[in-house]
Parts: sequence; structure tokens; C-alpha cells
Amino acid sequence: MLLLVMTSTPVLADVKDIRVWQSPDNTRLVFDLSEPHEHKIFQLSNPERVVIDLADTQLLKAIDQIDLSNTWVEGIRSGKRGKGDLRIVLDMQQRLSPRSFPLPPNKKYPYHRLVVDLEKTSVSKAVAEPLKRSDSDTGSHKARDIIIAIDAGHGGEDPGAIGPRGTFEKHVVLKIAKELERLFKQEPGFAPFMVRTGDYYIGLRSRTQKAREANADFFVSIHADAFKHPSASGSSVFVLSERGATSETARWLADKENDADLIGGVSLEGREDHLAMTLLDLSMTAKRESSVQIGSKILGRMKHVSKLHKRQVEEAGFAVLKAPDMPALLVETGFISNPGEERKLGTDAYRKKMARAIFDGVRDYFKRYPPRGTLIAAGQAGQSTFHTYTIRRGDTLSGIAVKNGVAVADLRRANDLKDDQIRIGQTLRIPKT
Ligand SMILES: [Zn+2]
Repeated sequence: MLLLVMTSTPVLADVKDIRVWQSPDNTRLVFDLSEPHEHKIFQLSNPERVVIDLADTQLLKAIDQIDLSNTWVEGIRSGKRGKGDLRIVLDMQQRLSPRSFPLPPNKKYPYHRLVVDLEKTSVSKAVAEPLKRSDSDTGSHKARDIIIAIDAGHGGEDPGAIGPRGTFEKHVVLKIAKELERLFKQEPGFAPFMVRTGDYYIGLRSRTQKAREANADFFVSIHADAFKHPSASGSSVFVLSERGATSETARWLADKENDADLIGGVSLEGREDHLAMTLLDLSMTAKRESSVQIGSKILGRMKHVSKLHKRQVEEAGFAVLKAPDMPALLVETGFISNPGEERKLGTDAYRKKMARAIFDGVRDYFKRYPPRGTLIAAGQAGQSTFHTYTIRRGDTLSGIAVKNGVAVADLRRANDLKDDQIRIGQTLRIPKT
């Protein structure tokens, strides 16, 4: 009897939770489902809505408890359709392109997940052609800052490693990244670029792509990881190895970091053809050398802040480091799985010291080997970008402009002049060209 009832009843799935993450490019909704499940998704206009239909599903989460603050979703409603179908309606602030994909359970996460991404239609998904800086770029262009791309690992659905006291790696590393950003903002001749600014996930390949679009000279990914043994401790610095990891720990960590992209639902490795791989390998060689040098400088600073897990820069096959046109490092700022280090990573003082060690290492390297065309290379950082000139009898503004090879308009702007009137004895700021 019971068997009969069971066979005639359709498979019921439960929606156990719905989480919402906002990134600069999209709003991501993640549904936790008790079963793998079919869904339909479509859009309605006037007003803008996104509708998600799940057959034979019940919602266990109280819909008014879903936090939509700071997202592009204005409201969320649910209703029953037919016998037991669930309809979720999202009231949108603007028209976005919906994309959805299922995620199977993994080691970190026991549920089947349905990921719904609502993306800005104007966001170009095409891979941007990196701006090439040729060596002859120095002459006519203004000297520029050295751009340091700072990547806080994980984020959003991907918490990274979780410490025994419940500390999330994604939160700790964002704090260290922000401190590092603050230090580079203050340093003349350097400009930070934050790859991740909040609690959302970015695919591993997108991280280096963002850095490349920002014309970064260097890419540093910040992590605080876990190991199967809680006794593992200390900080480490990794560079990319095309051949494989140098230690068992490195291999294990690389697997874990690379696993993170499964949380984004994107397969990690695009199939590169043989030629592309060979070229990548060749161009990596020089960048790897500078990466190792920067890494050694960071380790030299870090040994005063924390125990080092390994004394030299390690190699591992992290996907996030595949940035052939810029040196790149991955820094493990400690083991969050170690109770002592989890406690330290939870303190502002330790995070500041760690950021300072990374900052000092990177700055030391680039002060010594500044890229061409930068303020540091020109020895101008922190110095005036003007020289001064005192007006003598017979001078005219246009004459001074010609003599110094600057435009009259630039002279006016540099000196807040409303017209070309100047007087003897007046001191002008002449922009350096
Ligand atoms: Zn990590």
C-alpha cells in the first residue's frame, strides 16, 4: 500500500536556502536543493522581472529572510503553481541577462546547488586585448605608477579554508588585501588595483584578466590556507610552475585552490592547444625569474612576522597565477587550520604586519628593478613633477612655453592663470615633460 503511494508521488525537492551575492558585474543567487532538479528561467518586462520555476519543489526558507541589501534585486516573491510547483519571482532594478547552471555537492558543500547569475548586459564578456607596453613607450608618454594587482582569494559562495574556530579565509584575506591597498596608495610611484573588493566570487581566470585590463605590473594573490594536519603552520610564497608542484604540500594546496573554481561552476582548464602552451611556457620563464625574486624579498620580510613554512619560494600549479605577461605570486599568510595561526590571523595587528611584509618585499623589488616608463624608473616618484622659473623682463607666457616645450594651456593650468598676463619676479611652475 505504502509502496503504491510512493511510486505515484513525484520526486519532491526542497529548496533549503537561497543566498544572494553582489559583485560589480553581477548578482548571483544560489539555491540549495535537496535533489538535483530541473528548472526553467525566463524574463518579463514592465516592470523587469526574472522568473524561476522549479517543478515539484517546496521552499523551506522564509522568503522574507533573504538578504537583498546592496543587490540589483529589489524584491523576491514565491508562489505555488499547479499541484506542487514552485515559482520564484525576482523584481529587478534593471534588465539583466540571466544565466543558470547546476552545481553538484562537493567536499565543502553537501547540497545540490542551482546558481542563477544576473549579469549586466553591457558587460563585455570578450577577453580584452591586453595593452602592450613597448619599450619605446617612455619617450613621449608621462611617467606612470607601478600598478600592483591585489587579489584576495575566494569570496562569495567560496569561503576558502575554514578555521577550527570558524574563521573564513575569504574574510581574513580581504582584510589583508585592503591593508595592502592602503599601503600602496600611500607610496609614491605605486598604485594598487583591487581584484576583489567585496564578498563575491570571481573565477580564477577572470582574476588575472582583470589585473591585465588594469595594466598591472605585478599580481599577488592572498590566501590563508588549511592543511589536513592542524599542526601545519607558517607562511609561504608560491610561484607558478608549469611542470608541477615542488612539494607535497604545494601540490595539495594547488588542488584545493583550483577546486575553488568548481564553486563558480566553470571548468578550470580551457583546452589550450599545444602551440599556445609552448608559448606560455616560454614567456613564463622570464616572469618566473622576477616572480621568484619578488617572492624571496617578501619571505625576507615575512620571517620577522611569522614562522615560514618553507624558507624558499615554492612552485605550484595554481590556475590563478597563469598570467604570462606579468610576474605573479601566491602568498599563504598562515594556516587557518592551525588554532594558533587562526587566532593571529583574526587580529588586526598580525594582518597589518603581514600586509606590511608583502608591501615591503614588493616595493623593495620594484625600487631596484622598476619597469620602464614608470615614475620610479625616472627617479621622479615622490619628487615634484614641476620645476620653477622666475619671470624676467621681456618674458612672455608663450615664449616660456616654447622654451620649455610645454603647451601654453598646460602652463596656465599648472599656475591657475586665467589669461596670458605675467609679471616680472613672478614664479611659475613648469610641468616636466
Ligand atoms: Zn585559499
